[in-house]
Amino acid sequence: MVGCPEELARAFPDHLHEGKVNLKDLLPSELEAFVRLLGQSPYRARQLIRWLYVRRVGAFADMTDLSRAFRELLEAVAVLPSLHLASPQESLQDTTKFLFTLPDGNPIESVRMRYLEHLGPGRLAVCLSSQVGCAMGCEFCASGKLGLVRNLQAWEMVDQVLAIQRRVDARGERVANVVFMGIGEPLHNFRNLLRAIRILNHGDGLGIGMRHIAISTSGVVPAIRRLAEKRLPLKLAISLHATRDELRDRLMPVNRRWNLAELLASCREYQAATGRRMTFEYVMLDGVNDSLEEADRLVELLGGLRSLVNLIPWNPVDHPSFRRSSKIRVRAFQERVQQGGLRCTVRREKGSDIDAACGQLRLREIRRHVGAAPRAENTPAFSAGG
Ligand code: SAH
Ligand code: SF4
Repeated sequence: MVGCPEELARAFPDHLHEGKVNLKDLLPSELEAFVRLLGQSPYRARQLIRWLYVRRVGAFADMTDLSRAFRELLEAVAVLPSLHLASPQESLQDTTKFLFTLPDGNPIESVRMRYLEHLGPGRLAVCLSSQVGCAMGCEFCASGKLGLVRNLQAWEMVDQVLAIQRRVDARGERVANVVFMGIGEPLHNFRNLLRAIRILNHGDGLGIGMRHIAISTSGVVPAIRRLAEKRLPLKLAISLHATRDELRDRLMPVNRRWNLAELLASCREYQAATGRRMTFEYVMLDGVNDSLEEADRLVELLGGLRSLVNLIPWNPVDHPSFRRSSKIRVRAFQERVQQGGLRCTVRREKGSDIDAACGQLRLREIRRHVGAAPRAENTPAFSAGG
């Protein structure tokens, strides 16, 4: 029989949820293939996309311009899972943090930011998590201490946007920017990340422009290269944090696999392929990486790249030997980098700066949940993922 559940399961083996096809995990082209398998015209796929991403309904029963027979067929073979908003959201000035529970009970966080001058009125930015935990083990980061529990599926990334968008619909606000700077290493979940980006970007759906999507990475070099080959105008931010391999090896184990020279070479490839300015994030650790000598080396290292250096005040996590740099040291470092001819900003900590609430989401809930969880997917070998 056309469109029987077994045939559909064979057609979309990686996108099943509770034995049925998860339509929220499908690319628009796959939705077309799906409706064809059900013996329907491709136009039905456009209708489904509008219901899912423009009108943002959560059930087939609400898709009122589809025939009752088609809706019943959909109920039988497909599902529309969604994230569960787990706790009251926490707000801080213009940023709001959301804690979601995934269908398997794992928690993730996202942050909504509003009133960013460069976005315009009614435009919001959302900072998304890409994994439950993170395998990269950076010394200064709370997410690193959790280890990786699992990758998020594409729909679990997209649904963070949908859930937040739904909450601001009534105010006429729109999520216009997405940054993958929450928990996880997005380039360690490459395939699902790109799928999520394509779903977020599709013109019949949410329509978030590639230029308005940013990925922050600790430096998974083969994945940066793969991304460059795709020639998508995505914004790429590199978490640099050190200018010498010896120090970066210590702060970020990923550097032992792909060192600074390899990382910077992949950034040059990325810039050549996409034409986009590169952002380099640099977390300021007192007496560790914040000397003027480091600032000079940073200028040298980034020579020839069109770049922006973003200095990040370290958000203290339990660590015996790190302290955040003083404002005076941060300012001196910034001036030195600027004197070297680079653009250099300091991330504002609270309120309206786009990155303020990102990167260091609070992990209390997550710790509680995954404290005793297996870490089967933890991969110290730092594969490029997916
Ligand atoms: N895994 C990716 C994206 C998430 S982390 C990455 O590392 O780039 C987002 C940013 O927050 C990174 O630049 C990261 O280095 C930074 N970060 C991590 N822990 C931090 C802390 N305690 N204080 C300030 N920034 C931190
Ligand atoms: Fe993972 Fe990024 Fe934290 Fe490093 S800084 S452990 S890559 S989330």
